[in-house]
Amino acid sequence: MNYTILDCYTDEPAGLGVPPYIGTYPRYIYGRIKRKGNNVKYLRIDDLRLYFFYDNKIKKKKKTDKKIYNRTNQDVNKILNNTDVLIVISGIHVPGKYLSALPGTLFEVVKLVKNINCKKILTGPAATEFGSRLEGGKSFENINLSVFDEIIPDYVHDYKKIAKYAIFGAEIVKYIPDLVVAEIETSRGCSKKVPCSFCTEPLKNKLEFRNINDITDEVKELNKAGVVHFRLGKQSDFFMWSCSEIEKMLSSIRKECDIETLHIDNIDPAKVTEEKVKLVTKYCTEGNVAALGIESFDSEIVKKNHLNSTPDTSMKAIKIINKHGKKYGKNGMPLFLPGINLLFGLYGETKKTHEKNMKYLKQILKEELLIRRINIRQVSVYKNTDLDKLCGIKYLCKNKKYYWKWRHQIRQDIDNEILKRLVPVGHILKNVRTEVHDGNNTFARQAGTYPLVVGIKEKLPLKKNYDVKIIDHMLRSVTGEVLRLPATEL
Ligand code: SF4
Repeated sequence: MNYTILDCYTDEPAGLGVPPYIGTYPRYIYGRIKRKGNNVKYLRIDDLRLYFFYDNKIKKKKKTDKKIYNRTNQDVNKILNNTDVLIVISGIHVPGKYLSALPGTLFEVVKLVKNINCKKILTGPAATEFGSRLEGGKSFENINLSVFDEIIPDYVHDYKKIAKYAIFGAEIVKYIPDLVVAEIETSRGCSKKVPCSFCTEPLKNKLEFRNINDITDEVKELNKAGVVHFRLGKQSDFFMWSCSEIEKMLSSIRKECDIETLHIDNIDPAKVTEEKVKLVTKYCTEGNVAALGIESFDSEIVKKNHLNSTPDTSMKAIKIINKHGKKYGKNGMPLFLPGINLLFGLYGETKKTHEKNMKYLKQILKEELLIRRINIRQVSVYKNTDLDKLCGIKYLCKNKKYYWKWRHQIRQDIDNEILKRLVPVGHILKNVRTEVHDGNNTFARQAGTYPLVVGIKEKLPLKKNYDVKIIDHMLRSVTGEVLRLPATEL
């Protein structure tokens, strides 16, 4: 049997699979098929867009075309003609802005695959009851999926089997002619008794941990296949692991792999301890970020929505991470900083909620604490969550008129000020990789989790590393100029 995996990219609260990230879905599925002795190829939605929508011709444009940027550059016609089964991976549950990629909407995916003559299977987050949406605050895509012969949410689920599939699946990266950050899964489900009102993770998965040796073996295999950038990002809370487990996992990766980036993602602020933070700063690489699921600094909202931590606990977590992570590493970024996630549209939200958020964010500035980024999202209301039962989109609709203003105030008064402190004018960031052009400007960033976007006012070759000096600050990004060595050192 000839299988082809079509990666249309995934983004979930726990797990990113949008380039430059390669998610767990394509790797596990590839490994499962390969292990059974079948042939398997890997294509990306960018390959199909070029083939079907662009007539296989790349036009020169002033702005880099994100729709076809992440091609694998294979013969699409030949691969599709030889395909017996097409497995389509798709689904966005936490939509973000992607610098150099555009995930497929289900509408687009259906249009692309409907005339391909083979068995078609849809899997990934879009195949779950929660569907897919490319913009926050909007309802999921309601579209006829009869073009697919099967819809399988969990093509690969059992951790014992995944241990084997992940090893066979590592070679999938040979199809990607570009930088890859491998998203690694460490656990699924959530340890909280009462889930946060908006969250689907406890509905999707019961709490389960991967065997640490399976995790490190997978990283080693990917490393052998050429991957040097890793994020232990597919879990609801990395600090559910104990200190000894964290040390075992991270030290083994550092000892046995030749890597450039080792980052983590998703931390429950209530689980932050000095010991765990010290382990992360000891074994991970600089530029690391703890994405803290704070969601709101309004204690009423915390209570009503059963959120992770009170405002005081969140502040304590921010301070501990700063205490050990604020020191700068060799790439010019601090070792480990907190990232703050905020959600608009939760149950009970009022104008006071924004005032309380601002009060704590200003306190962070006043106490000279650093944060790497503030993610602000409009909540997506999913079926069967508490939020769905309590109020649905009532507060989203009620307060929508304020969101632009609230968000802008946070960007202007907090983000911009923090950026100026984090990377002041004259500060040097190393190994910043050029990714896209917009006119005569180039946008670049380092590899890893939540890297800072640097705008450079010249048209540089893409996919190259530069060292840059910061010259200005935007609301969420910076501008820089390339440091060129004096002629004698070139
Ligand atoms: S802590 Fe809350 S947001 Fe995180 S996985 Fe559990 S229920 Fe979901």
